[in-house]
Amino acid sequence: MKLSSRFYILLSGIFLSYSVISWLVFRDMVHEINQQWGRQFAERQVLFDKYRTLSPLIREIRLARQMALEPALIEMALHEDDAEVRRRATRVMERYRFDFRDHSYFAAFARSGSYYFNDAAGHYSNKQYRYTLSPRAKSDYWFYATLRSGTDYQVNLDPDVHLGVVKVWINVLLKNGDEVLGVIGTGIDLSEFLKESVDINQEGVETFFVDRSMAIQLSADPTLIDYASIAKTVGERIKVDALLKNPADIEKLRQTAEYLEHHAGEVATLWVDYRGDKRLLGISYLPEVGWFDLTLMDEKSLMVIHGFAWLPLLFGSIFMLGLLILGLLLNHWVLRPIHRLTKATEQVRKGNYEVELPIVGKGEISELSRSFWRMVEFIHHTNEELESKVKERTEDLQRLTEIDYLTGLLNRRGMMDKLEQEVARQARQGGSMGLLLLDLDHFKDVNDTYGHEAGDLALCAAANVLRSMKRSYDHAGRWGGEEFILLLPECDEDELVSIAERIREAVQSLRIDTGTRSFSFTTSIGAHHPGTPQTLDAMLQQADKALYAAKDAGRNCVRLASQPVRGN
Ligand code: GH3
Ligand code: MG
Ligand code: MG
Repeated sequence: MKLSSRFYILLSGIFLSYSVISWLVFRDMVHEINQQWGRQFAERQVLFDKYRTLSPLIREIRLARQMALEPALIEMALHEDDAEVRRRATRVMERYRFDFRDHSYFAAFARSGSYYFNDAAGHYSNKQYRYTLSPRAKSDYWFYATLRSGTDYQVNLDPDVHLGVVKVWINVLLKNGDEVLGVIGTGIDLSEFLKESVDINQEGVETFFVDRSMAIQLSADPTLIDYASIAKTVGERIKVDALLKNPADIEKLRQTAEYLEHHAGEVATLWVDYRGDKRLLGISYLPEVGWFDLTLMDEKSLMVIHGFAWLPLLFGSIFMLGLLILGLLLNHWVLRPIHRLTKATEQVRKGNYEVELPIVGKGEISELSRSFWRMVEFIHHTNEELESKVKERTEDLQRLTEIDYLTGLLNRRGMMDKLEQEVARQARQGGSMGLLLLDLDHFKDVNDTYGHEAGDLALCAAANVLRSMKRSYDHAGRWGGEEFILLLPECDEDELVSIAERIREAVQSLRIDTGTRSFSFTTSIGAHHPGTPQTLDAMLQQADKALYAAKDAGRNCVRLASQPVRGN
């Protein structure tokens, strides 16, 4: 696999794991932050709702409870027939009317069933008695239910059919010791109250109040309100299941409510399904009214950090961009320099040391290419040195193959080269040449008489004669055992015979000293000087013939080949 592919795979792996891990961690973090924030928000919201809703109610409840303790009212409940008692009590009630937020009050007495009322406009001043309640009238159930409940005070939403208004009623029992004498209190106009408590128009937040039986008491949507709950059986009430459809959510809420009832002041949060959405439900108990504040908050509006769906795209883009940049850098820093180096190396491999040796890349890569080129130069240099040495040795060997080991003259092979070259040169350029063929006389006897080593000494001495007497451009060689040959380019016949004669004399005058004895020897010489160009064989044959003639003539003499031999 290519380096770049490995690199890309590795990078992809790293980037992908990094992205996935980052994304997961980030998502978890966001989720955690949102949850925390949502919970805190819910708690604050619930507390805020609680006090916003409660403060007006608590004030009214306190005032109504104070009114229920007024002796004048207890007196009236006991002696309603007494006009003076009624007047006194009415005065007290009228005083409270101005204090109540709604500037209205009511008082209903158990013994008579009489219902007294006056409103903000004072419509019923001096005729506060409105009507008589009846246990049979459905609209009056609230009264009898409240009397029976035994609870000191209750908050109830009820349309007053007689008066044609829907109010949040604060019903306080009027008691004389343990005896329940009636119900007194005030009401707050529901629409106004709703505006202040639940209809707050806060996006993503909806507030409901439910009583202990989970009947909805306050809601921005008036159709959800369970009016006159206290006058109904539990089964008849509009309950929280109108909001929450999931039975598990209702069960959780019920358990939480039970807990909160004993831990008033705490705020609990639950995640519930609300109309198909996931909502955070904040719950707190309002012991003053016996209600629960339920605040439903839209998860999305709670999210501090939201709309981060574009993050994977950003991660992806950064990844791709990172990959691209790294790829380009890898290419620029590593792959391209290596490619150039490889191409140059290929040239070097083909033996082209003249190739341009680029210093490629940066840092370690440039160091590598520098070292590489130093190595190439070293190899080149060593190669050249080796080649020249081999050439030298080859030439030496070549020379050795053409040199006679004993005498140092050219051997037969070396001599043949010179002869062929000279014949060729003559054929090309013309000119004359001579050939002397020498054979030492009775040399067998020399060996036999003085020994082979003495014979060798004689051979070397004869060779020295040839070496010293030849002209610089002549070539002397050992032709065989005790036979020598001398090639004389640019030489006429007389000159040839004269040189031959001088050589013969020089050999004759040699004295070989063996240490114990000394001797001399002679040589016969056959000379040939072709008038016209001849083949080498023909020339050698002629020279040989002349040598035989010299031997025949008694040895130690020179004979010139006179008759040209027609050679092959
Ligand atoms: P001739 O005058 O007829 O030439 O008589 P010759 O004895 O020289 O006869 P021939 O040429 O047949 O004998 C050559 C002798 O030369 C025989 C051999 O012992 C001797 N010889 C050849 N090569 C060498 C050599 O390298 N060293 C020595 N010491 N003797 C050699
Ligand atoms: Mg011989
Ligand atoms: Mg001989």
